[in-house]
Amino acid sequence: MKIENIGVIGAGMAGISCAKALVQAGKKVTLFDKSAHPGGRMSSRIFEHWTADHGAQYFTAKGDSFKLITNSWLTKGFIKPWLGKIVSYNKNEVVDVDHSVLRYVGVPAMNSLAKSLVADMTVQFSQTINKIEKVKNSWKLSSKEQGQHQDSFDLIIMAIPPKQAADLIPKKMTNLQEICLNTKMLPCWTLIAYQDSDITLPFDGAFMDESPFSWIARNNSKPSRANYESWTAQANSEWSNEYIHYSNYEVELLLVSAFEKITGQPCKLYQSHLWRYAKVESPRNESFLLDQSNRIGICGDWLVNSTIEGAWTSGEMLGKQINTIFV
Ligand SMILES: Cc1cc2nc3c(=O)[nH]c(=O)nc-3n(C[C@H](O)[C@H](O)[C@H](O)COP(=O)(O)OP(=O)(O)OC[C@H]3O[C@@H](n4cnc5c(N)ncnc54)[C@H](O)[C@@H]3O)c2cc1C
Repeated sequence: MKIENIGVIGAGMAGISCAKALVQAGKKVTLFDKSAHPGGRMSSRIFEHWTADHGAQYFTAKGDSFKLITNSWLTKGFIKPWLGKIVSYNKNEVVDVDHSVLRYVGVPAMNSLAKSLVADMTVQFSQTINKIEKVKNSWKLSSKEQGQHQDSFDLIIMAIPPKQAADLIPKKMTNLQEICLNTKMLPCWTLIAYQDSDITLPFDGAFMDESPFSWIARNNSKPSRANYESWTAQANSEWSNEYIHYSNYEVELLLVSAFEKITGQPCKLYQSHLWRYAKVESPRNESFLLDQSNRIGICGDWLVNSTIEGAWTSGEMLGKQINTIFV
């Protein structure tokens, strides 16, 4: 069957990679995202006086295909290696972690990579898709902001977390519904903080096992960032789950106090964010889901593993499979 016009819901790394694979095969692709920017969980906050990466902190490239694409991003200047000192830090004991694997970051912020990647693509931002329906053998999309969109699509891709996909999948597609509903994502409360004096901790990023944090990092040790101290501290999934119903204000009191104990410096400015669907508990190891007869595909990190590489791989494999099946 001929497929020409494809709608991709979600402009995170999975949606972008899927769209790229489809465009390379000559398909017409439109990406939709509820946010005003691409990148999803690979995101950065930009305030008037400071910035911080508040989702994915860096990425690595393990598979051959992803290594190739990573090298092309390096050449184009979309990313740079982060050569900061990364340690494990528990009970004040600092232990170096493996530095043989390169860690990459978007420049000048994590989400700059996604912005560069979609520069030549058709993306509709600030469109929260809240309904997809089949009308005369084509897919129609509706968004909270605009109602039903004019375009019709031959095929729909959902590149969004499983709970959000389950909300959109038509009820009669029970198989896809069940898979999405049975996949558990873990939350992550995140604190980003700006300090106006130097923090003398002997590392730039630390994996931690002590509650509440599992990771803290110095944004200003990453390449092409400003010089002031800006840190990101992520709570572990158990703590985040325990405080999932608390307000930002309540959580900030706890996280700021715990963070200040580690740094010995007061946080000058800060903000918290709850990533409700931060990482998958156990990936499905299926790469992607495709219902050929209904012409609906699903990709995302939660199918492979919760990394930038996992998300990219899932989207790319789905795109390539669609190119093989549908001319
Ligand atoms: C706190 C945190 C730290 C992390 N740290 C790392 C790390 O250091 N290294 C690493 O490799 N990975 C890390 N990850 C994981 C990594 O960020 C994800 O695996 C990856 O970004 C997921 O990409 P995705 O495209 O599958 O999903 P997402 O990035 O979630 O993209 C989904 C997109 O869909 C949009 N969307 C959702 N619903 C709708 C809708 N109804 N209509 C329109 N748009 C919609 C969203 O706005 C979003 O842009 C981290 C994640 C979190 C949350």
